[in-house]
Amino acid sequence: MSERSAIIFLETEYNRNSVAALAGSLEDILGELSGTVKISFLPVEYLGEDIRLTEAIGDAGTVMFAASLGILYDNPGAFLADPKSPALEGRRIYHVAGGPGAVNAPELLLYAGFDAVCASEGEEVIRDLARFIGLGRFRRFWDIPGLWVMERKNAYFTGRRPRVDLSNYRPCSRRWRKFGFIEIVRGCLNGCIFCQTPRFFRGGVRERSLRVVYGSVRDFVKGGRDHVRLLAPNALSYGSHLRGQPNLSALERLLSGIRANLPDTGMLIYGTFPSEIRPEWVTVDAVRLLKKYVSNRKVAIGAQTGSDTLLKKIRRGHTTNDTLRAVRICREEGLKVFVDMIFGLPHETPSEFEESKRFMYEIFRLGGVVNAHTFIPLPGTPLANVPAQKLRARFRRELSTLEAGGQIIGNWRDQAAFRKWRVKS
Ligand code: SF4
Repeated sequence: MSERSAIIFLETEYNRNSVAALAGSLEDILGELSGTVKISFLPVEYLGEDIRLTEAIGDAGTVMFAASLGILYDNPGAFLADPKSPALEGRRIYHVAGGPGAVNAPELLLYAGFDAVCASEGEEVIRDLARFIGLGRFRRFWDIPGLWVMERKNAYFTGRRPRVDLSNYRPCSRRWRKFGFIEIVRGCLNGCIFCQTPRFFRGGVRERSLRVVYGSVRDFVKGGRDHVRLLAPNALSYGSHLRGQPNLSALERLLSGIRANLPDTGMLIYGTFPSEIRPEWVTVDAVRLLKKYVSNRKVAIGAQTGSDTLLKKIRRGHTTNDTLRAVRICREEGLKVFVDMIFGLPHETPSEFEESKRFMYEIFRLGGVVNAHTFIPLPGTPLANVPAQKLRARFRRELSTLEAGGQIIGNWRDQAAFRKWRVKS
């Protein structure tokens, strides 16, 4: 059967993980689609290039562009194809957006020109979208739950979907050689008020089963990859249902099984950003276990701020002492430690700012490096509309000096510029 429709994933450097997971989900229903949908991948910067676009479309009469937008995307228009492009002449075109950058701003994207915005977990939605354009299973976007659509200039939600069971989906695609992080845990029991994770992935935590994780590792290896990175909101939480208490035997089963499926020269990366470790979970035994199996000799610890009163206000659920203790343990075990800190958080008083600064220097004294972030209000969180604190010029200069000396890393400067741009626009 000829492929009369096409889904084209628009790739960026930020959406590699989402594209891999969506492609993996589609790979498992190719039999059902019976060759009716061509799946293509196009770096978003080639969207305006006719030759590349024609190649991606093939002979499809209906084309759906799928854009997974990261939190820091700045121009949704870059993901919209020009309908006047010769490559699109005579074809029916749809634009669908999803991902963390889309999920909480659906109206904005619909007004920008997208036909539908996915506000649910993508694994099942992408299958229904393929059934829609390939098999005609649905009459219109309205019939597919989990989407925002526009009707008479108003945005409507088509209805909630059940939470996906991660173990029913693989996080990568061998067929199309799309490999990102292997997501082993989704959702979070904590409620940090700046974070989208517990708001988007409601209802607690889900884990990918060991069977599927090991199978994914084998997919990586068969696909020519000899290193894997694991993704979890807290690197020590796999298999544990008790806050702050790692389940060492579950963690060991996970990591040793992955190792067993990797070649001897393979790399297993875990416990680094964004799969940081919550400080109150750090124990000597847990760190030794990590060291035994992972290839990285650096870890990331989420501190976020160095003021205990601000930690309470942002509902982090740990103290500054937890972080200092965690840094000490990791350093004593010979690991390089990166401590995540967010600057410019709302509700921060001048004295809390000073405490945070002192804390930062304490981290340096212990031999840690600070991974500095500038607070960005994220849609859907309790801080979405709360004014952020400005990073004063003097403090920015101080961060730059520390950065030049290697004591600070991170995207704090780009994030500050993005925040400024967003306030202006
Ligand atoms: S910042 Fe980390 S620990 Fe806090 S809610 Fe988000 S994912 Fe959970």
